[in-house]
Amino acid sequence: MRPLAILGGTFDPIHHGHLRAAWEAAEALDAEVRMVPARTPPHRPPPVADAAGRVALLRAALSGQHRLSIDTRELEREGPSYTVDTLASLRDEMGPERPLVLLVGMDAFAGLASWHRWRDLFTLAHVGVLTRPGAAHALSDPLAEYVADRRAPHVEGPAGSVIGIAITPLDIAATAIRETFAAGREPRFLLPSACFEDETLLAPYRALASV
Ligand code: ATP
Repeated sequence: MRPLAILGGTFDPIHHGHLRAAWEAAEALDAEVRMVPARTPPHRPPPVADAAGRVALLRAALSGQHRLSIDTRELEREGPSYTVDTLASLRDEMGPERPLVLLVGMDAFAGLASWHRWRDLFTLAHVGVLTRPGAAHALSDPLAEYVADRRAPHVEGPAGSVIGIAITPLDIAATAIRETFAAGREPRFLLPSACFEDETLLAPYRALASV
């Protein structure tokens, strides 16, 4: 059964770092990958673009291919976007057998033990850790201990393993893109050109230059 992988994030805005990581994970795992925009990130200030605006950018960015898609379930749910709830709802929908993979960057993985009900993540899904060469992050003791015998080379079974996925390092971050807009410059080629085609899509970020 083809794995279903999800990459959650604020995507404020989506950029080639996210897209390449999702694409390479799709190829490495032979998976369908869904980008899952977060509505209310629990630990962060509110996004610059509202949910509809971030989804519109995602749609533009994903046009012309079918491997990566958008899943808006977190935007439709009230309250904070807990990943464990997202995985539980996907598990309900997909049934007990289909492999689910939660994709996280190495930095996010290192902090996993601070996530809501983090151990339950592993009963619902595998965790695919997007690794960039040379970028080591120390794991906290409880996490290191918990994952020590869960590391696996590939997806097997519906959930429970930690799978490293080597990706091309692209040093692109949404924060830097927002800063570029705020400075009145254009972050072209850090995000898909389709995002620049409709003037309105990037308007919330361009407005940063006038505050
Ligand atoms: P910000 O700069 O606003 O914190 P970001 O660019 O890191 O944003 P997020 O929406 O926080 O983007 O990221 C969503 C997911 O994508 C996270 O798991 C993160 O680790 C991963 N990610 C972000 N940028 C990259 C990148 N350049 N390469 C690989 N993965 C990335």
